[in-house]
Amino acid sequence: MSDKSYGFETLSVHAGAAPDPTTGARAQPIYQTTAYVFEDADHAAALFNLQTVGFIYSRLTNPTNAALETRLATLEGGRGCTVTSSGHAAQVLGLFPLMSPGAEIVASSRLYGGSLQQMRNTYPKFGWKAEIVDADEPENFKRAVTANTKAFFIESLANPGGVISDIEAIARIAESAGVPLLVDNTLATPWLCKPIDYGATLIVHSTTKFLSGNGTSMGGAVVDSGKFDWATGGKFPSLAGPEPAYHGLNFFETFGDMAYTFHSHAVGLRDLGPSQAPFNAWLTMLGIETLGLRMERHCANAQKVAEYLARHPAVAWVNYAGLPSNKYHALAKKYLPKGAGSIFTFGVKGGYDVGVKVVDSVELFSHLANIGDAKSLIIHPASTTHRQLPDEQRIAAGAGPDVLRLSIGIETVDDIIADLEQALAKATGK
Ligand SMILES: *Cc1c(COP(=O)(O)O)cnc(C)c1O
Repeated sequence: MSDKSYGFETLSVHAGAAPDPTTGARAQPIYQTTAYVFEDADHAAALFNLQTVGFIYSRLTNPTNAALETRLATLEGGRGCTVTSSGHAAQVLGLFPLMSPGAEIVASSRLYGGSLQQMRNTYPKFGWKAEIVDADEPENFKRAVTANTKAFFIESLANPGGVISDIEAIARIAESAGVPLLVDNTLATPWLCKPIDYGATLIVHSTTKFLSGNGTSMGGAVVDSGKFDWATGGKFPSLAGPEPAYHGLNFFETFGDMAYTFHSHAVGLRDLGPSQAPFNAWLTMLGIETLGLRMERHCANAQKVAEYLARHPAVAWVNYAGLPSNKYHALAKKYLPKGAGSIFTFGVKGGYDVGVKVVDSVELFSHLANIGDAKSLIIHPASTTHRQLPDEQRIAAGAGPDVLRLSIGIETVDDIIADLEQALAKATGK
């Protein structure tokens, strides 16, 4: 699979996996093994010195995970990839080679709530500081840069949806500041948007969502574009300075455009340990085979459901970038021309009590805290994910009392709409 002219759907099925050379097995085998036998003592020494590439121990590398890594790097148009145990682990691992105590990142205020939590409450324990800015105004990133800034962090299409970042404008500011732009591409997936094409350096994913696609497997990934010069400016000593754990090896000098990915395995996964289980990597590869088909249906269904809700008398507002009236519609046309994804929020007239009644009345939808499943999902954030926050902060986070979040699945769209219709009727009498 070296031919880069294959289309996205072909690469989704084939990239990273070929028939097994030993057995002829057509499906990707699951290498459910912890360790790998060395050929001899010299081979073992060369592996441990990073002088030869191979498998040592599955905390660092595993052949099933490697197949998924190649597939994701290919689909994102990147150079290398590291898969992790969850999306949140991917965010920590993705920042790890860049950061040190006192280092700062500038991040969008529209990030997934869990990511903001990580940045506000947990990163400070590592001595990392996150400056949170409103990404609707890209110049805010420029204003927040200090001598200690090491990265920008945004979502292409933000969870809970509707919010789209101007990746190209923010990438230009990152470039002039000499820092990499990290983009969480979970909600868009590379089928809808490839941020590297717009200047992003690193892509992070929660593969838990659309990539695995069936709500079965936690996982995350970091994809490196291979385009960043880690040496110029002297900001990234972990990548372009001597690494004490490998006899002073300089990753950037030694591995060039694979420096970041090698570091993520040889230091990040080795020392932090959030490795993906090979079975989850296998399920995720299986999911990716149908990514394009599913995303096409997810987006088509979401567009119809959003249009339906926008006309419903019990609905106060719908925040879906696929609707022409939406604030982010122009950015959606540029960055997500095939569809605005399948996750969005809407508000019910009558607030908290009606919101709770809707989630209690759905039959086809599942009321739970996940997104990106083939099944349609619903949640009322004010009574669940955001219930600890005071009202004011809930509203700022887009989780006011009237807000419902939908993740539209790939079922027959008339059935999805009929379920919302009967639930809204039960909850409001309309
Ligand atoms: C779910 C999610 C995460 C976290 O991923 P996990 O796999 O749950 O750890 C990060 N970013 C976004 C946009 C998400 O939706």
